Amino acid sequence: MTISTTITLANGVEMPRIGYGVFRMKEHEVAFNGVTEALKAGYRAIDTAAIYDNEEAVGDAIKASGIDRSELFITTKVWNSDQGFDNTLRAFETSLKKLQLDYIDLYLTHWPKPTLADTYKAIERLYEEKLIRVPGVSNHHQHHLEEVFAVANVKPMVNQIECHPSLSQDALRAFCHEHQIAVTAWAPLGTGIVFTHPVIRNLAEKYSKTPAQIVLRWHLEIGNIAIPKSVTPARIAENLHVYDFALAADEVAAISALNTFHRTSADPDNFDF
Ligand code: NAD
Repeated sequence: MTISTTITLANGVEMPRIGYGVFRMKEHEVAFNGVTEALKAGYRAIDTAAIYDNEEAVGDAIKASGIDRSELFITTKVWNSDQGFDNTLRAFETSLKKLQLDYIDLYLTHWPKPTLADTYKAIERLYEEKLIRVPGVSNHHQHHLEEVFAVANVKPMVNQIECHPSLSQDALRAFCHEHQIAVTAWAPLGTGIVFTHPVIRNLAEKYSKTPAQIVLRWHLEIGNIAIPKSVTPARIAENLHVYDFALAADEVAAISALNTFHRTSADPDNFDF
């Protein structure tokens, strides 16, 4: 299957299929260097969050790159302790300032707390005011999305969820696609737990690709956006170069069959942060 490097969201905005994730890169130098390297390698999407504590470094790297703002797709997220209508608007202002931008491409509720509806209404307000180009959510199960739908004038256009071969999220992805919600996979590499599986190893050998590239190509084939993280220049580049080969349908199915419902982090129905 030929796959374009961007996906068209429900409102027509184009979002890069592979973005650069910056979780656990708190030190200014680490985040600055990582984003600089990613932009040099050709990434145009960066995924950060208020809680990652690196929005300033991301903003500095964007500025230093000299790349035109219109070519970039920047995602950030409102943290749990800032949820609610007014708090979310305030948190957004802070993120915008730290990133040194005048709009954000995609703004997400980071985790679904009981205040998720008010939080989403604030995100919707930001969308109406054209301060964000795309409204979205993260870690929302189907029932959380249904709570959002009950109050939304504009449905979220992206749901960022944990997804990798050990957690293929078939039911939630199908529900999202039915509602024109694009799925972004976080922890797309599943922190490497499937890299040594024979299915992945054999495909890597067949296509002369690395296990990470096989897994990322699988994400593209099943319709996902993926935001792998690395601080190693060779891996940053490698993770973007997944457009010059394709997996056959039975190969995609074999990777999907590795699903064990294994989460690397909390279930959105049960977290305490
Ligand atoms: P990931 O699947 O991107 O794995 C990252 C780890 O994989 C790295 O630490 C690195 O050691 C290794 N790696 C990267 N490229 C590799 C390669 N080519 N070969 C071998 N190993 C490689 O997991 P992640 O960092 O947890 O998630 C990615 C991004 O998703 C984060 O940076 C963040 O932006 C986002 N995220 C979002 C949430 C959320 O709640 N919305 C939660 C976690 C992460």
